[in-house]
Amino acid sequence: MKTSNLGYPRIGSNREWKRALEAFWKRELTEASFLQQMEQIRLANLQKQKDMGIDIIPVNDFTLYDHMLDMAVMFGLVPKRFEAAKNPISLYFGMARGKQEAVACEMTKWFNTNYHYIVPEWEDRTPRLVENKPLTAYKEAKEKLGIEGKPVIVGPVTFIKCAKGYLPEQEDTLLSQLVPLYCRILQELEQAGAQWIQIDEPIFVTSLSEEELTASKKIYEQFHKASSGLNIMLQTYFESAEHYKEIIQFPVQGIGLDFVHGEKTLDEMRMHGFPEDKVLGAGILDGRNIWRANLSQKQELILQLEELAASERIWIQPSCSLLHVPVSAKHEHSLPQELYNSLAFADEKLEELRLLSSPSQQEAIKKYDDALYLLNSSPARNRTEVLWEVEKAQGKDLKRNQPYMNRKQKQQEVWNLPLLPTTTIGSFPQTAEVKQARGKHKRGEWTKAQYDQFVKNQIEKWIKIQEDIGLDVLVHGEFERTDMVEFFGQKLNGFAFLENGWVQSYGSRCVKPPVIYGDVDFSEPMTVNESVYAQSLTDKPVKGMLTGPVTILNWSFVRDDISRENVCYQIANALQKEVLALESAGITMIQVDEPALREGLPLKKSKWQHYIDWSVNCFLLTTCAVKETTQIHTHMCYCDFNEFLGVISKLDADVISLETSRSHGELVSAFTWQSYEKGIGLGVYDIHSPRIPEIEEMRVMIEKTLEVLHEDQMWVNPDCGLKTRNISETIQSLKNMTAAAALVRKKE
Ligand code: GLN
Ligand code: ZN
Repeated sequence: MKTSNLGYPRIGSNREWKRALEAFWKRELTEASFLQQMEQIRLANLQKQKDMGIDIIPVNDFTLYDHMLDMAVMFGLVPKRFEAAKNPISLYFGMARGKQEAVACEMTKWFNTNYHYIVPEWEDRTPRLVENKPLTAYKEAKEKLGIEGKPVIVGPVTFIKCAKGYLPEQEDTLLSQLVPLYCRILQELEQAGAQWIQIDEPIFVTSLSEEELTASKKIYEQFHKASSGLNIMLQTYFESAEHYKEIIQFPVQGIGLDFVHGEKTLDEMRMHGFPEDKVLGAGILDGRNIWRANLSQKQELILQLEELAASERIWIQPSCSLLHVPVSAKHEHSLPQELYNSLAFADEKLEELRLLSSPSQQEAIKKYDDALYLLNSSPARNRTEVLWEVEKAQGKDLKRNQPYMNRKQKQQEVWNLPLLPTTTIGSFPQTAEVKQARGKHKRGEWTKAQYDQFVKNQIEKWIKIQEDIGLDVLVHGEFERTDMVEFFGQKLNGFAFLENGWVQSYGSRCVKPPVIYGDVDFSEPMTVNESVYAQSLTDKPVKGMLTGPVTILNWSFVRDDISRENVCYQIANALQKEVLALESAGITMIQVDEPALREGLPLKKSKWQHYIDWSVNCFLLTTCAVKETTQIHTHMCYCDFNEFLGVISKLDADVISLETSRSHGELVSAFTWQSYEKGIGLGVYDIHSPRIPEIEEMRVMIEKTLEVLHEDQMWVNPDCGLKTRNISETIQSLKNMTAAAALVRKKE
């Protein structure tokens, strides 16, 4: 049995990749020394895998920014607006990050991960092969390190489906233009002596039509004809292959399958068998999570696989590229021992592969299993009072005590808000001053009292600003929060924080998700002081501000000994206590943000309903226990509302604000086909841009929206939080926004 890897994190063990990139962008590094540093990181990553004894090491998984951008540039798919760029490297980063004269290419999530890729744009052009990048990577590894690498590329079907700028009926033509280029890549690799290539087709875990499947098979037949001496590992991941039976018949030499996230994969294999002449790429270790595997269980799984395929034709590997996990757990020094011993980042996962593949490692395997056993039996994971309470809460009828229409009337009596109430989404600018203050507190230069006073001063300043602007519903501004998930994680039980647990999110941006490792529980009020203080300064209502349970879950690394659903109910149960604490402290307008609810949708449609059911229930568990006069708000970013309106209704929030300003036309039309009766604020301007919107354009936007919404349900707000904007942009934009609302009110 061989060991194989699908991709290794690019960022380096101390994020040296990020630092080199950012230094280069700031012109602190010349192009030559930047490229040299990048080469060092790339080779070090390969050498490490070699030293760990991995048999089949991926190459061309490294990139200067994003692997999909590499593919687009390799095929000459450069949007016209960037053509002026002469230097290839400034063209490349121009596409990724935008230039003064050309907006950046769109960025979107890579399947259901938190990795964002650059979306290739077609623009009616014929692709060509600019550089055989996999070949360059193959040769580099061979010549410099003596590694017989396995080049990795994104397959043509996935590439096209993830691109934009063409009509659906053009898809076949585009594929027929791309295939010869892929064939050339394969031929040249074969000539250079490469033995394997990994062609990533994660799109095969989603459902394709019969025609698409037939067309895909034809493509792989062409590949086979073009370079019969090069072995192709057709690699799927993130779920079970949707068309297992068909795909295993493709004329390739290996099929890579996900046995972790694809719960059905093993059954499919049992049912339909596995071709004797192919290699099975068995993705048995979770490439998406940070936990050690239970190696004895993995050994069992391997035994089962060996009944279905000959062991010399099995490669054991992670379920997907290790891009989605941090590099090495050895930098974590401040975690409880039981937790530390149970972590497996990229390097530890490779070590697990080695253990699994070598004979007589029983002792080492037992040690790892014992570590997991210790964590699972630790008090943090066995808080019976929490389990009992959550079970009881789940069993209750999770709904508000009055239907919306009754609540609406009573709330209007309490709040007496004008038509088209104006508000914001929660955060105000996180200026250098705010960040410095946090730094001083963290480093111990400021006492807690000093820092708290600073936050209070900020709140006071911004309450005054909001009153001057004339907003109807105010917020405290979230100055005390680093990040909307981390802040709550630090105050709830059951969370831990990594020191060096960085994962690439997009480009040079890395995130360090909190770790949910124990039973989650409320310990003390988390937001009450700031909200109550803000409310004490004004007669206008101040909205309380919480991050919702599903978002906290989706933006964390989550324990995998119980279901995500269960963990989410625990978070919801804890947050309900915060909601009730706010309510009893007199904060009776409360916003529970769920920007990440949509992105947690499973890849397979067949799993959607279950996810929607429990995530809606968790939101309800958080919010439904309040009085009918307490107004629950929620907020969501990036969302396809056409398919999501049903879910939004079920949340039963009194008011929802949505990020819409970038696709406003489509959204407004989405509301015509279904009547949504609750309060709704469609963002009237895009907070991602420094541009200050004019009164007139927002007035038009509000009036257009009023063609489909009732005047007494509509709210006026920006489309997301303002933390990334500066103070003057924020004030001016909000002044224009309230002026626009006032103009429309006058007419109504
Ligand atoms: N309340 C948060 C803020 O205003 C919401 C952020 C988000 O939607 N991502 O920053
Ligand atoms: Zn948002």
